[in-house]
Amino acid sequence: MKIIIIGGSIGGLCAGIALLERGFDVEIYERSAKGLKDRGAGLVIQPDMMEYLIEAGVSTREVFGVLAAQRQVLDDNGNPSLIYPNDTVFTSWNYLWKQLRSAFPSSRYHQGYELAGIRDEHKQVWAMFKNGETIQADLLIGADGVSSVVREYLFPGIHPRYAGYIAYRGLIPESELSDEEIAFFSDKFSIYPYANSHLLCYTIPGPEGELEVGKRLLNWVWFQNKSLAALQEILTDKDGRQHEFSIPAGYLSEENLSELRARAAKELPEILRKRVSQTKNPFVQAIMDMEVPKMFQGNVAILGDAAYLVRPHTASGSAKAYRDAITLAMAIQDTDNLQSSLKIWNDQQIGHARALAIHGRQLALRSQLGK
Ligand SMILES: Cc1cc2nc3c(=O)[nH]c(=O)nc-3n(C[C@H](O)[C@H](O)[C@H](O)COP(=O)(O)OP(=O)(O)OC[C@H]3O[C@@H](n4cnc5c(N)ncnc54)[C@H](O)[C@@H]3O)c2cc1C
Repeated sequence: MKIIIIGGSIGGLCAGIALLERGFDVEIYERSAKGLKDRGAGLVIQPDMMEYLIEAGVSTREVFGVLAAQRQVLDDNGNPSLIYPNDTVFTSWNYLWKQLRSAFPSSRYHQGYELAGIRDEHKQVWAMFKNGETIQADLLIGADGVSSVVREYLFPGIHPRYAGYIAYRGLIPESELSDEEIAFFSDKFSIYPYANSHLLCYTIPGPEGELEVGKRLLNWVWFQNKSLAALQEILTDKDGRQHEFSIPAGYLSEENLSELRARAAKELPEILRKRVSQTKNPFVQAIMDMEVPKMFQGNVAILGDAAYLVRPHTASGSAKAYRDAITLAMAIQDTDNLQSSLKIWNDQQIGHARALAIHGRQLALRSQLGK
């Protein structure tokens, strides 16, 4: 069976690796003409995803990421008021993507291919790209993220909805911290919860996957409620360009940067205030909700962020994309009835996505975030 995947990020690469492993003729088409590196920040690796990637030879236990063996809740003075065991492994989006990318053959990974349209008829599907090429396959998988063209084709009119809050994020090289500060954050998942907000801090591998103390990065995420009008302003970058969901590092407007630092001075304990003020290029992501009624139609399927958005508090965006991807490969392995296999896969994964989405909203409500 010939399968084409649109989008070569976490979901697309996990699907590509799992399908290739099962003998499918699979090709990935990615919009970006350059690599996707240097655009992400920290993320949690869920245990099932880590075990699979180790088993599949994508990574090894020793180099996977940074373990936070303790969780510390900080009080208004920045002192730990509660410490308890934790076993979260953190990595960076860049490092995870690099590991997945190296495990998928370059001859099957095509960059600079932006999907523009789809034709699906007579059990065949055609992908039309902006560069003028058309590629035919038996199955097309949309792993093209939040602004998915594949979703628009399947379910026109379903779009992400603003959840009422944003996440400011930042990365600080450990080399810019004092030894005491490194020790304070090392091996810990630090949380500062307060009224209508909270800030998280954890250590992730360095830009090239460095795991040695002093060469890693400290990652922070600060959730703040914002009205829709305020969101429009925040998503207007320093050059006056309006963005849909996020502003990349280095593009926040001067007004927003000043507002962020002023708010940090007012609301955060010193140990965190300093982190916000020393971050050279903070960036911001709007928190969105979105769900599709079904993850396939005809010979087209969608997975990961293209199909469902879950709140970041579940720490599952990447893990959900990975699970959608490998369960799809397992479901269609050896099938002689693609439609019924896709239906079984859909029923299972959409149930998981719904449960995760509800859980994420409950966690947000508990933290007084959003609507
Ligand atoms: C650059 C980047 C950085 C990220 N950083 C973080 C992070 O630091 N922390 C975190 O928790 N999550 C991050 N995410 C989100 C996280 O990766 C996703 O929640 C999760 O991995 C699901 O991934 P996905 O593959 O479904 O979608 P995405 O990761 O959004 O990938 C979609 C891919 O499809 C490609 N694409 C889009 N439209 C087209 C088209 N028309 N034709 C061809 N290709 C197309 C995009 O270029 C992208 O590579 C990041 C995503 C991206 C793209």
